[in-house]
Amino acid sequence: MSFCDLALDCVTQLQPYVPGKPIEELERELGVTNIVKLASNENPLGPSDKVLAAITEASKDLTRYPDGNGFTLKSALADKYQLNVDQITLGNGSNDVLELIARTFVSPNNEVLFSQYAFAIYPLVTQAIGAKAVIAPARDYGHDLQAMSTLITDKTKLIFIANPNNPTGTYLVADELEAFIAQVPQQTLVVLDEAYVEYGDLDVNTIDWLEKYSNLIITRTFSKAYGLAGLRVGYALSHLEVADLLNRIRQPFNVNALALASAAVALKDDAYIAQTKQLNKQGMAQLIAGFDRLALSYIPSKGNFITVDVQRNAEEVFSGLLHQGVIVRPVGNYGLPQHIRVSIGLEEENQRFLDALTTILGKIS
Ligand SMILES: *Cc1c(COP(=O)(O)O)cnc(C)c1O
Repeated sequence: MSFCDLALDCVTQLQPYVPGKPIEELERELGVTNIVKLASNENPLGPSDKVLAAITEASKDLTRYPDGNGFTLKSALADKYQLNVDQITLGNGSNDVLELIARTFVSPNNEVLFSQYAFAIYPLVTQAIGAKAVIAPARDYGHDLQAMSTLITDKTKLIFIANPNNPTGTYLVADELEAFIAQVPQQTLVVLDEAYVEYGDLDVNTIDWLEKYSNLIITRTFSKAYGLAGLRVGYALSHLEVADLLNRIRQPFNVNALALASAAVALKDDAYIAQTKQLNKQGMAQLIAGFDRLALSYIPSKGNFITVDVQRNAEEVFSGLLHQGVIVRPVGNYGLPQHIRVSIGLEEENQRFLDALTTILGKIS
């Protein structure tokens, strides 16, 4: 007997999520040191002193369960975004929230709609439930909202849209996005995944849309611009009733005490976000200049990463970079076998990457 015979079909057919290669793993496998990791869109600044102080303070109470309602963090979020506390659902990263949404609303005979090149978690949570993933063809690597509209049926329970999108960095302007949301039927929920919203220089506050569109759920995270990926905190903002349902299925202590304390402090640190954005802008320009010198085309990005066409087997380029101690992300699993995605790092990290890339491209034709 194989345990696969016992498991749900939808689970045995799942393709596991492939995370960015951890630094320690590369050290172990290749004995490389002085590694630069630009593979998971983390904030290269590291945690602020304020966050480290909050962790020290919160660690004194580690024998206690965390606040299962996340009162302090939710109050800070409600304050910042002028929402009711009860419109917020906290998650162990926003991936947790994305899964909660699917588990709350989607049944196996439903459809979940998202775009080609959309974030890998969408097919994963869809398939884990045994629902049908409907994938709209992309336009210029980004969302084709028109194509998505035509694929909405009376079985479509959920639509996932990441803006900016990962792994392509593509971006939808507010007018088009709002027009799309406005025509989605009431019984279909739209999840607007704004993991990179802080980088986007938005001309509109999408949170204002929650009042107009009760079927809209916005998800955000502390993993990217806020620099807390290792702690795992994200959240959903939604209609009160939706939040109530999500909170019923949520594990009572899904966000740990250190994460709660750190996120509440990080949320108020506007200077850290400003510095992050500035660094990202400079790093983006640095990488683009490097790609131009190498005559490589890239997908214009509004995130803290950029996806570049290396014009050859990206797995080989990835592997060559690993041997030089640079971890990036090949995106063949997204159907982009000649692209790599690189996160924007510190200036010297970006330079290490560009130098290594130049060497590798000279070796692989
Ligand atoms: C990184 C990312 C997330 C957030 O992941 P966390 O679970 O919050 O760390 C969500 N959506 C997209 C598109 C992402 O790239």
